[in-house]
Amino acid sequence: MPQDKSERMGHRRNGTRSKSFFDFTSVVHKAYRLIFGWVPDTLKDGDATDQVFSLHLKGALMVKTYDMIVIGSGPAGHRAAIQAAKLNKRVAVIEKREVVGGVCINTGTIPSKTMREAVLYLSGFRQRDLYGLSYTVKKDISLDDLLFRCNFVIRNEIEVIRAQFQRNRVDLLQGHASFLSPHRLRVESSSDTEEYEAEYIVIATGTVPAHSPLVPVDGEKIIDSDTLFHMPTLPRTMTTVGGGVIGIEYACMFATLGVAVTLVDLRPRLLEFVDAEIIEALSYQMRNIGVTLRLGEEVERVEKLNTGLVAAHLKSRKIITADTLLYTVGRQGNTAHLNLEAAGLQTDSRGRIQVNEYFQTSAPHIYAVGDVVGFPSLASVSMEQGRLASCHAFGVPAIAVPSLFPYGIYTIPEISYVGQNEEQLTESGIPYEVGKARYREIARGQIIGDQSGMLKLLFHRETRKLLGVHIIGEGAAELVHIGQAVLTYDGTIDYFVHTVFNYPTLAECYKVAALAGINRLR
Ligand SMILES: Cc1cc2nc3c(=O)[nH]c(=O)nc-3n(C[C@H](O)[C@H](O)[C@H](O)COP(=O)(O)OP(=O)(O)OC[C@H]3O[C@@H](n4cnc5c(N)ncnc54)[C@H](O)[C@@H]3O)c2cc1C
Repeated sequence: MPQDKSERMGHRRNGTRSKSFFDFTSVVHKAYRLIFGWVPDTLKDGDATDQVFSLHLKGALMVKTYDMIVIGSGPAGHRAAIQAAKLNKRVAVIEKREVVGGVCINTGTIPSKTMREAVLYLSGFRQRDLYGLSYTVKKDISLDDLLFRCNFVIRNEIEVIRAQFQRNRVDLLQGHASFLSPHRLRVESSSDTEEYEAEYIVIATGTVPAHSPLVPVDGEKIIDSDTLFHMPTLPRTMTTVGGGVIGIEYACMFATLGVAVTLVDLRPRLLEFVDAEIIEALSYQMRNIGVTLRLGEEVERVEKLNTGLVAAHLKSRKIITADTLLYTVGRQGNTAHLNLEAAGLQTDSRGRIQVNEYFQTSAPHIYAVGDVVGFPSLASVSMEQGRLASCHAFGVPAIAVPSLFPYGIYTIPEISYVGQNEEQLTESGIPYEVGKARYREIARGQIIGDQSGMLKLLFHRETRKLLGVHIIGEGAAELVHIGQAVLTYDGTIDYFVHTVFNYPTLAECYKVAALAGINRLR
């Protein structure tokens, strides 16, 4: 008598299972453990009926499995995938965009920093202290002039990442990922839908700009940091709502191009986490290039006027009109369409996923890294989180993300710092002293024409240990790493005094500041 498929597999027709079925199951489990090192969810369902079980079995056997699947190809996902591949694991990255690199390469860090470079070059801004206020490299700078450089860098960066994935045999799956179960993902692209399973899953889906129903972002007149590059032309006037890092960086760039910018923020001070003296210097410089600061002001609503202008209505009853309004009031976790419930995961009210020190979510085999976990939301730290998550998943010892990471803020002028600031030290009652060097006192500062840059060292009065480094001026984000190394190794200010730096360089500021600080100890 021929048996049907379920009987051959040891199933009974009434839905209960015979002894041989259990043997078969354990053989399959063993085979999976041997070949892949884990058992897919679909094969673990012991309560399934014969029919469901055999369907699941068929599905499980057809589904492509990986050691690790990473959702998102931004800096966090990119580094998680490469680290896992370096450990000889089978890895796939799922990316919903046509291009890799995430917000970092396509709409955030790289375009904004490239645009800043284009603005500074074409406007001749860096040379104006030397050649006069009217000096420019190009008159009538257009948005296309700026985009030319941005697109060039973006294209190359995308190529670099794709080549890395290829070289390291990371499969790139294009489509939108969502959870079907704790180990299984659905990937939907415009052409088809596939399912994949993995022993470990890394969520690196980043963030999207936060919006408000009172500010109708249309990508033309009212823009956010994602749509900024699609503006039809450069405006003559602009209102920036939101004085966080992104809002301030763009306010500086547009003002340098001659756009009259008004920056509105609820908080009474810009960037409250940055040393107050540095922010004072920044505010002065921003006003100097034509930014009007409206701090401690709340925007109630925004409307497009018939005149083609955009009006921001403030709670104080002021109305600010401009050609364009840039809305940058923060970002929220890009988790809304991941169907996290199927994996038993939840988010906070801003769409962010909570993780432990190893970047594990409440499901230990699912990691979350990068901006989707919140603070500090930097590309620099996101990369390291991705790498560490992979190390943890595959049992490679790794040191946690250092708490001493530097901040680079690409305003005009640039700001960078590492360690504690004066307000924090005062609050903690730590006896500290300050040593400063002005770029204008340093030969390299004169050569490059930066008259207003400053480097400030904070150190312990008694132990002379370095406590913080704060820089505003050209090259700040590079210069800070010298101080970071000394801080990390618990060094004292004497290191700078006894070191010979290249001459003429901005690094010389460290020596000048250290000597000035030590003089204050007398
Ligand atoms: C304007 C701007 C300027 C910035 N400047 C700096 C800077 O100077 N320095 C710095 O360190 N940081 C900067 N940042 C922050 C930096 O860009 C982020 O910290 C970084 O991009 C976070 O990386 P990520 O990998 O977590 O996420 P992202 O870079 O956001 O990448 C997430 C990826 O996941 C994909 N994705 C999302 N959901 C799915 C899904 N369901 N299926 C498949 N794919 C999905 C997205 O398409 C995206 O490609 C800036 C950000 C902005 C917006």
